[in-house]
Amino acid sequence: MNQPIRVLQWGLGAMGSGMARLMLEKSGLQIVAAVDARPDYVGRDLGEVLGVGKKLGVIVTDHPETVLDSNKVDLTVIATTSWTERQMPDLRKIITAGINVISIAEEMADPAAQHPELAKELDGLAKQHGVSVLGTGVNPGYVLDLLVVALTGGCHSVERIEASRVNDLSPYGPTVMETQGVGTTPEVFRKGVAEGTIVGHVGFPESIQLISDALGLGVDRIVQTREPIISKVYRETPHVKVEPGMVAGCAHTGVGYRGDTEVIRLVHPQQIHPHLENQDTGDYINIYGVPEIHMAIKPEYAGGKATIGIAVNMIPHVVAATPGLKRMIDLPVPAALMGETAYSRRV
Ligand code: NAD
Repeated sequence: MNQPIRVLQWGLGAMGSGMARLMLEKSGLQIVAAVDARPDYVGRDLGEVLGVGKKLGVIVTDHPETVLDSNKVDLTVIATTSWTERQMPDLRKIITAGINVISIAEEMADPAAQHPELAKELDGLAKQHGVSVLGTGVNPGYVLDLLVVALTGGCHSVERIEASRVNDLSPYGPTVMETQGVGTTPEVFRKGVAEGTIVGHVGFPESIQLISDALGLGVDRIVQTREPIISKVYRETPHVKVEPGMVAGCAHTGVGYRGDTEVIRLVHPQQIHPHLENQDTGDYINIYGVPEIHMAIKPEYAGGKATIGIAVNMIPHVVAATPGLKRMIDLPVPAALMGETAYSRRV
């Protein structure tokens, strides 16, 4: 095998620490630096922070400028926030240091969908410094966009797409409960949606834009709705209690129109303990065209695992890509990194 790809892991939360652990299993990848703002992580060996039972000789720092050296780092994986605007200062530092970057910020899956000026800046900076920038993750970045696009690969024509991801929010912490409105009353839920404190899923404009651009469906308007999932039964997690009549989750829908015609509908009902009302979880992709396609993954493609996996599996493609801002539809298909040829596929 050629020299391993040298990676800086920026953000060691639930996703970032999982990515770092997975990278340790991959012979073609080597973690050479780690950044996180948490005071209880800074100054400690990464192996200790990850709990892998051995030191790795990498000290976690909150001063990224001390490790952003393109002679020592080929690519940074950043897992810190959902929002492009909030990540821009860090992305600028990484790119201007001449280092490739993969972000799992939901909006980075297609930053042009909501922030065309930031997308232009990222693309320009990346080209100027000879690096590539990719946003990915399970959703957006994979299940409700790339997988949909790939399924149309044998179609002669596509009139309309409808895809849904039905999942269980029970494993998540207090932030997710609040942003999904779990444990509120329907009135508080509607007020939260109107005020922007209850956001539901982040990523529909990005996923719809990716599908529309890949197929040439010409979506020119995206409408999102967020409805409360009102529980008929008592439900409880370590972080929230839901009495009958209260909100167990958020049914979020994003619809892409070309003129007055609906062409893409993405549906993402997320709730705690869906099985208590006999709701199975799963991913469902329906393509109405020639031929018509109906695909189901049951239960759903596990979100945390898939985000960790896809971010790591895309590393060789991003290192090999031409400079600029990339989306999942611009790069080779992701595949699990299981052996030498996976690191040297032609791009
Ligand atoms: P988390 O809160 O567990 O971890 C975030 C970590 O980043 C924390 O350790 C925090 O200290 C650190 N951090 C935050 N800002 C920083 C900065 N500027 N510099 C250094 N460190 C910083 O979150 P998580 O579950 O790991 O997820 C990370 C982000 O990825 C979230 O916004 C989440 O919504 C997003 N995400 C996206 C997808 C997707 O499908 N695209 C999937 C999962 C998570």
